[in-house]
Amino acid sequence: MLAVGAAALFAADFAAEGDLWWAHIQFLADDNLQGRETGSEGYREAVKYVAGKMETFGLKPAGTSGYLQPVKFETRQLVEEESSIAIVREGVEEVLERLDAIQSARADLAPAMETGMVFVGYGLRVPEAKYDDLAGIDLRGKVAVYVNSSGALDAPGPVKAHVGSAGERWAVLKAAGAIGVAVIANPRLPTGAGGGRGSAAAGTPPPAAAADGSSAGAGRGPAGGRGPQKAFLLADPDLQESIGQKVAIAITRRGGDKFFAGSGHTMEEILKLATENQPLPRFPLVGTLRTRAAVRRETIEAPNLAGMLAGSDPRLKDEYVVVSAHLDHVGVGRAINGDPLYNGAMDDASGIASILEIARIMKETGARPKRSILFLAVAAEEKGELGSRYFAIRPTVDRKRIVADINLDMYMPLFDLKWLEVQGLAESTLGDTIRDAAKAFDVQVQADKEPDQNRFIRSDQYSFIREGIPSLAFKFGYEFGTPEDKIFHDWIRDRYHKPSDDLSQPVDKAAAAKFNRIIVSLLEKVADSAARPQWKNDSFFKRFAR
Ligand SMILES: [Zn+2]
Repeated sequence: MLAVGAAALFAADFAAEGDLWWAHIQFLADDNLQGRETGSEGYREAVKYVAGKMETFGLKPAGTSGYLQPVKFETRQLVEEESSIAIVREGVEEVLERLDAIQSARADLAPAMETGMVFVGYGLRVPEAKYDDLAGIDLRGKVAVYVNSSGALDAPGPVKAHVGSAGERWAVLKAAGAIGVAVIANPRLPTGAGGGRGSAAAGTPPPAAAADGSSAGAGRGPAGGRGPQKAFLLADPDLQESIGQKVAIAITRRGGDKFFAGSGHTMEEILKLATENQPLPRFPLVGTLRTRAAVRRETIEAPNLAGMLAGSDPRLKDEYVVVSAHLDHVGVGRAINGDPLYNGAMDDASGIASILEIARIMKETGARPKRSILFLAVAAEEKGELGSRYFAIRPTVDRKRIVADINLDMYMPLFDLKWLEVQGLAESTLGDTIRDAAKAFDVQVQADKEPDQNRFIRSDQYSFIREGIPSLAFKFGYEFGTPEDKIFHDWIRDRYHKPSDDLSQPVDKAAAAKFNRIIVSLLEKVADSAARPQWKNDSFFKRFAR
């Protein structure tokens, strides 16, 4: 075949490599693995598979026990019969029903509490944006009631996503003296949408974990049994972001007016302003909040996995480029069309398959990167990015020498790869590097097209960003109004966190293979560059660098 050009040869390679990539997904997203929930038998099977492949592809064990880094988690579940919420006014107690408000076991709920409440608008304090919902408010010893939106804050998407995240928001409220939170879901998000981190699904009753603003692990889960949801935390109290939160409540639309009664304000008024992203009034609420809470706790252990391709440069080999993906998914839940298994093929067996395929390619091409490349499969992303947080804070290598995280999570290889959307594109020099890498494959780079979706903090790269490590994440890009735009959004609507994210869905395997090759090129460029990646001077996230 004389007429075969380079492009056609690449195409042939992509077809074969796409099949190798897909084979990993066929194992990981099989019904046998039961949706790989952290701590489950299916997750343990997935761990064995990945450890085996890391060995096959020549990676050195880089965990604390072979390839494994065991992580301890604590689960918390509210004992509803022994828990209650009431508002007390002039000595009269009004007990709230589940349709009004529910408590979140993710917090550090006190067994019994009675305290005042203040409505603090959106509950944000962002000095660099000259924005302060807490100015002039005395929150000491009180519960902060707020709307879970970044509403009237005028700031870039990543900043809004960061300051609106559960951990950051609570850190600010706690510093102002608050002892708990009561949260009104963002009315801009559709009911039951499971909006991800920084949002709370507005369903009735709301998911339990929404009360601390982190619907991760609840709002994003498969809406399983009728009982209260189980919250997952890292077992180490030093790593628990809700520490000190003695009260945590999600308020429904119906419940809102019971909180606002006598204050001169109504739920309708507040929701209307919040829907329009208008500034909100701030005012003390009338009466006290009386809570009782009993929480059932269990300990679970599930590992991250780390495998190393050692660097070739005598000096740079002690620096590490991390390429990460999450091994867990949401497990077994409410059946849809008779199917209770949430297989998680794209989310995120696709990312794990990519890191394995990247390891294979680098082995077979005899890659000799100057810096070391650390292949990381993490637990408990679906529980709130917990496995990656543990690794980023307690890494198995010197934390100061981790130079970047390249995270592959649900990057959506559903059509040909012509555009690559990059989250974090403008934040660090990694953005320039991925532009170079993509260009060689005739792929154009796009910035995040839907910053309101908070994707920059909705996966494991955020755990590294918070530790000051420049990071990127990806989606297959498209232009608005094209068939690809429709395929992307239909998928989010029909398959995201549903049993239909399984092996029967249409996927462009060759396009995934092209993506894998671009990531190989990106990793090699980052590993070989004389200078380690740097945050851009105007990046909000530069502050975390040490
Ligand atoms: Zn997910």
